[in-house]
Amino acid sequence: GSAKLAELLTEEIKKRELSNEVLVKRTSCHGFCENGPIVHVKPESIFYTKVKPEDVNEIVSSHLIEEKYVEGLMFHDPDSGHPYPHFSDIPFYARQTRVLLERCGQIDPEQIADYVALGGYLSLVQALQRMSPEQALEEVKLSGLRGRGGAGFPTGRKWESARRAAGAIKYIICNADEGDPGAFMDRSVLEGDPHSVLEGMLIAGYAVGASTGYVYCRAEYPLAIQRLKTAIKQAREYGLLGNNILGSGFSFDIVLKEGAGAFVCGEGTALQASIEGMRGMPRVKPPRSTEKGLWEKPTVLNNVETLANIPLIIKIGAEEYKKLGTASSPGTKIFAISGSVANAGLVEVPMGVSLREIIFGAGGGIRGGKAFKAVQLGGPSGGCLTEQHLDMPVDFDSLSSAGATIGSGGMVVMDEDTCMVDVARFFLAFTQAESCGKCTPCREGTKRMLEILQSMCQGRATMEDLENLERLCRVVKATALCGLGQACANPVLSTLKYFKSEYLAHIVDKR
Ligand code: SF4
Repeated sequence: GSAKLAELLTEEIKKRELSNEVLVKRTSCHGFCENGPIVHVKPESIFYTKVKPEDVNEIVSSHLIEEKYVEGLMFHDPDSGHPYPHFSDIPFYARQTRVLLERCGQIDPEQIADYVALGGYLSLVQALQRMSPEQALEEVKLSGLRGRGGAGFPTGRKWESARRAAGAIKYIICNADEGDPGAFMDRSVLEGDPHSVLEGMLIAGYAVGASTGYVYCRAEYPLAIQRLKTAIKQAREYGLLGNNILGSGFSFDIVLKEGAGAFVCGEGTALQASIEGMRGMPRVKPPRSTEKGLWEKPTVLNNVETLANIPLIIKIGAEEYKKLGTASSPGTKIFAISGSVANAGLVEVPMGVSLREIIFGAGGGIRGGKAFKAVQLGGPSGGCLTEQHLDMPVDFDSLSSAGATIGSGGMVVMDEDTCMVDVARFFLAFTQAESCGKCTPCREGTKRMLEILQSMCQGRATMEDLENLERLCRVVKATALCGLGQACANPVLSTLKYFKSEYLAHIVDKR
């Protein structure tokens, strides 16, 4: 309803002859998903939530004309009823460290001038004018930034290996093929701050020695695609893309490639095949993409959030950047938190904060006063964590020691009423549908696993089925060709580990 609201506000402001004093600006999502549409009145920074068309008149007459804030539209503490007039006081925002999301919801993403006015593209200028490509690369290496797509591979090392690879033609790819159920971090960054990603790609191109970049974005993200197209066009008009950028001698341009939405195209080699016009299927590695990637040329593939970190690293320097997060996982991480949580939305926190802080702090706890049961991290490739993990720091290494993964940042919170067998069935149904069919363990294994889980949910499964399920999980994990198949058993294995009694409760012939 936000677009309609912006229209009505503009009309009302015009009708009251306030157009010279008040400007209605459309922004992107503020990340407080449960509470939209949002009207943020500046410079007072009064934050109105769940605004309806019939509230427009009151906002204009009370706030803009009489200068009296509309308390009824402010966010209220669900327990005490206390109103929060300012956006930064609302616990959902106050408990976050929004450095990557800083501009999301604050600027018009279709206006490059808004981005530039807040210091946008200064990091590129700084890199081009004061740093050699090697120095820019070194800064990213020193920052310790690890890829935010899920694997957590050090970004600087990836860049370095592509830079060192032989050949004059190299590519930078931005993986914007986010497709996990429950994940919408990258989409929000692309929709809300597309230039930060383009700037990250430009700096990557400069550091690696590439002159072409591709953004591979799924067609199911039409708004992100529209904003990327606008951003690329405006960056070209400003001389920030093309030949001899800002007179530096560095040339770089970006091509937007729309994917058809296959989940497997988030895998690097499948994504590259898709850009090349072939069916999006993974291939065996090595060679790694940094040696032979797109069109067999050295290629750096980074995800949206990883690239959005780059301008920040150049701006504040690696030393300052490392003060955010933990020693082995510096920086912040954006989580898309959804499910049975009070405040669903986008939460950006320094790496290393606890799950409890994310779910019960910014997330506001479990909706409807229910008890927390589990959280699924990392979508269909991730695993679930339980009450005993709530105080565990969320970073790459702590989670992997618990057998879980940070994934790309999707966090689905589940309450006491959730059936964990059904959760495993849901995620496996997703991976089974998305299996590209290239290798037998995944193509056949996911089908058989899903059949067993479906029969469990229908109360028809036997102990033998459960044993077969466990065996299939091990086999598919060990033998599938790509990450999709290798990780598809994780939701089953983790729910089996922590909630085996629920599986047993579904069995008909308990021995
Ligand atoms: Fe395709 Fe699955 Fe094999 Fe990956 S593991 S190549 S998705 S069949």
